[in-house]
Amino acid sequence: MKITEYIQQASKTLFSFEILPPLKGQSLKELCEGIEPLMEFKPPFVDVTYHREEFIYKKHPNGLLEKISTKKRPGTVGICAALMNRFKVEAVPHLLCGGFTREETENALIDLNFIGVQNILALRGDAPKSEGKFIPEPDGHAYTKDLVKQIVGMNQGKYLHEETETGFHTDFCVGVAGYPEKHFEAPNLKSDLRYLKEKVDAGAEYIVTQMFFDNQKFFDFTRKVREMGIDIPIIPGIKPITTLSQINMLPRTFFLDLPDALMDELEKCKTNAEVKEVGIRWAIQQSKELVKHGVPVLHYYTMSKADATYRIAKEVF
Ligand code: FAD
Repeated sequence: MKITEYIQQASKTLFSFEILPPLKGQSLKELCEGIEPLMEFKPPFVDVTYHREEFIYKKHPNGLLEKISTKKRPGTVGICAALMNRFKVEAVPHLLCGGFTREETENALIDLNFIGVQNILALRGDAPKSEGKFIPEPDGHAYTKDLVKQIVGMNQGKYLHEETETGFHTDFCVGVAGYPEKHFEAPNLKSDLRYLKEKVDAGAEYIVTQMFFDNQKFFDFTRKVREMGIDIPIIPGIKPITTLSQINMLPRTFFLDLPDALMDELEKCKTNAEVKEVGIRWAIQQSKELVKHGVPVLHYYTMSKADATYRIAKEVF
């Protein structure tokens, strides 16, 4: 079923979460066992991130360095199939512009349709870590709005080269990303929102936000999105801080601010365990206020570690 249908049919805020594929060489069993407790809160859908290639350098005996492209977390499509099979939830793969030609995107969409995926989160992706700037593949998409157009085209039976005569078409529900604190490359929030509107006009049916720690930023963002005439569901993304290193890593990686009141508490912490308690308390308070505000879904970034999200959901759902 489509995420938009779950939202239409719900009488209260729904629970969902995001996981990462395990690092190459690790099994799926541990991940599935780890997230099993979260099924108590009946998530209609679980997102599975996509990780594009990274470049590593291998040193040869003669001293020369070889640049190698490798994917450290492959398996998004396979995990989606496994989740749907094991937990009877909708699995939502993240699909990127980066690293894909349009032909590869088309083939990925065919695979996803054949395994029964009905929802996709369409994203541009970032530049590989060693590259400074996002560069699309030759014949790939530079912006998510064009990926959304391709998915919507396939929903209308439009393929790149073939004329389909069977009348068969996909029926994906497409979500896109929104940034309450603006995307890091956007000159300002207004231009970022203009491009968000282009994604919606291209056919996106719901928005999932980047994590934020100050609900007021989400409320302001939602108001501005509505003022643009965008009326699709906006799903807030919540991340409990669980380690000391995340206090600097999250702002640096995701271009967001931690509010003063949260920092006052975090600065008193000496251990990861203390940080985790503060992070969980903060996320519970954030979640409860968002539920009161009537958000359709609370979407948790678990980073594949379910225990903090479990404790939050136990208090909120
Ligand atoms: P876009 O909407 O294409 O926007 C990218 C930038 O270009 C923005 O600054 C925008 O303002 C600007 N822009 C858009 N259109 C135009 C235009 N026509 N002209 C000029 N500028 C324009 N990354 C992964 O690699 N894997 C994941 O699984 C993943 N999951 C994510 C899940 C969520 C909920 C979020 C919020 C992000 C996720 N990301 C993931 C990160 C995401 O790929 C990056 O933030 C990426 O840099 C932007 O993706 P986007 O889809 O928002 O891009």
